[in-house]
Amino acid sequence: MSRTSSFAMDKVPASMKEQIRQKALGLGFCAAGFAAVRPQADAMESLREMVAQGRHGEMRYLETGMPERADPTLLLSGARTVLSVAVAGPARQDRGHDEEGILSAHAAIPDYHLVVRSLLGKLLGFIRSEAGVPVNGVACVDGAPVLEKAWAEAAGIGRTGRNTLLIVPGAGSMVFLGELLLDIEIEPDAPLDFDPCGDCRACLDACPTGALTASGRIDATRCISYLTIELKREFTESEAAKTGPWLFGCDRCLEACPHNQARSVAPHHAFAPSPGILELTAEKVLELTGSSFRKLFAGTPLMRLGLKRLKRNAKSVLEKQKGKGG
Ligand code: SF4
Ligand code: SF4
Repeated sequence: MSRTSSFAMDKVPASMKEQIRQKALGLGFCAAGFAAVRPQADAMESLREMVAQGRHGEMRYLETGMPERADPTLLLSGARTVLSVAVAGPARQDRGHDEEGILSAHAAIPDYHLVVRSLLGKLLGFIRSEAGVPVNGVACVDGAPVLEKAWAEAAGIGRTGRNTLLIVPGAGSMVFLGELLLDIEIEPDAPLDFDPCGDCRACLDACPTGALTASGRIDATRCISYLTIELKREFTESEAAKTGPWLFGCDRCLEACPHNQARSVAPHHAFAPSPGILELTAEKVLELTGSSFRKLFAGTPLMRLGLKRLKRNAKSVLEKQKGKGG
């Protein structure tokens, strides 16, 4: 068998590994690393514990797909490598009238699922064109049953902070993650020797609902992001009381983090905020029709939320304003 034809059975040369990384950085990812497919026992145990304790709330998708999370070869037959990437998103722009309704930074930009998936598709195309042999790959962004933070840590692109999010050196935790599962073997990178938090507890102190119940531990049922984005039904009284002025998501723990306050990495150019969305208030949300909603939010994460739930969130904001005599 020639060297070329046996390539898929052997390790990718180190020079090509670095070409892939450089291509990823050239596409605008702020970090890219490689991990060998292997069991992630600790991450699986943490997830199972969260689900058993009900801290995942009504995110039923976390209860399913356990076999695939434990074994990525169920998502891609013969998977040997996880190429883990991060892309920097923007910080929230202060509009100066937060009490009228606040949107998380990622609400006003193109849906990161679409952006990261498109970039991963280009990266996979590059790998296929350079490999000289057939390469099978699967792009995963958020929705796929993949232990994204565990793979990102194993691939050496960041460490998980007390806020439960991956912290990428220079980019902080305002990043979106993605993975390429590949059926070729690439020398794995080493996990980072980096303690992102030290004595800091700023995110725990900043959380308005106590959702960060301990270092690296979240109770999603108390988290404003979960309540305003993930929860599909109407709020109970106690849930409505928690959401504060947030129309979509919550960035308080992100904004408190020193890694995000001192970022040296610029947001990816695809994430330019839409000025129309930045002007949105709770009152304006209640005036939206189906067509004006689609026109304003086409291609953004708000489309997945839908107008009905956005109005639910807006009513909750306005009821609290009334309660304050506003
Ligand atoms: S997103 Fe908001 S509510 Fe959720 S953990 Fe962070 S600060 Fe707390
Ligand atoms: S705010 Fe502090 S404790 Fe929380 S993730 Fe950032 S560095 Fe870690």
